[in-house]
Amino acid sequence: MPRFYEITPVRKCFKQIKKTAPAFCSCREEPGDSLVGNRLTCSCGEERKVYEWTWDAETTSSATRLILDNREIHFHPGFSNGTAIIRGNKPFVSGFDYYWEIKVLTPLYGTDVMIGVGTTKVDLQSSADRFCSLLGSNEESWGYSYLGVIQHKGRKVLYGQPFGHGSIIGLHLDMWKGTLEFYLNREPLGVAFASLHDRILYPMVCSTAAKSAMRITYCTSSPSNLQLMCLQSLSYDLGMTKQLRTVPFLRSQIDREYWWLFPPNKSEGSSQNGETDSSDTEDEDIDNDDYGLDSLASFCASLSGVSAGSEQADPVHQRLCMKRKRKSDIYSLSVAHNADYIVD
Ligand SMILES: [Zn+2]
Repeated sequence: MPRFYEITPVRKCFKQIKKTAPAFCSCREEPGDSLVGNRLTCSCGEERKVYEWTWDAETTSSATRLILDNREIHFHPGFSNGTAIIRGNKPFVSGFDYYWEIKVLTPLYGTDVMIGVGTTKVDLQSSADRFCSLLGSNEESWGYSYLGVIQHKGRKVLYGQPFGHGSIIGLHLDMWKGTLEFYLNREPLGVAFASLHDRILYPMVCSTAAKSAMRITYCTSSPSNLQLMCLQSLSYDLGMTKQLRTVPFLRSQIDREYWWLFPPNKSEGSSQNGETDSSDTEDEDIDNDDYGLDSLASFCASLSGVSAGSEQADPVHQRLCMKRKRKSDIYSLSVAHNADYIVD
């Protein structure tokens, strides 16, 4: 039996896994006040400025405060005596793919800080005076904890690296297939949850940490269609990814709408440091018919299995793709066998 089916004591797992992920950028935090601690105010990772929804001001409580057009949330201004939670102001509905990113602006600590989704049945006030891992505590929500575990129906499963100050957490919710995948600093972590379709879901975040803060840095959606499914499948393959980006109309569409599907490729100038590479690609994105046809021919050749040149494998990208695929396989298998690697 593979190792990942073993029930692993949480302390041992944490020792094996895991240091908190580094910050997405190296900016310094700005001094806070008596209500909110020092926090990042830079706009790294927000170059695209697409915000289809914000936090719902009607779901705030005395333990939450919204600023920046309701995109930035401050939990427990001053002090904390329980778990604060907030949800987005627009529901996720079937037939669409959603991708959004949340930047952690302050250090995280304490019982739990979680990012995920939940239904309208999540009681936002139920744990206001209780410290707990609220998202995923029952069947109405699903969450990824800053400690690196995911939770649903009260079951915690080891999943990814712990996140913290400066991390950007991405979430890809496919409401057609019903899957939720998290990204950490733009690296995909593999499918975390399945069977989320046929429900109406909302984005949610919760925190028990006083003076903690997060900001929505990007949120978009698109109809679940064949193009998106194909791009997602091809994104696992480094050679294919490179071929895709040589086709001008595809490259511009990827850069505009589906950039998040493709793991950062450091050899091509990654956005890992908060620098966008869109200006470079815009400059290159001149519609040159010869170039386009050549590239398209090359792309089609590679699709049909004909070698399209001597592509050198990028070890970083390859490692990310393999890791993502393995993680998805592991989780699908464990779901299929109903034998998770559980932490309690
Ligand atoms: Zn920054």
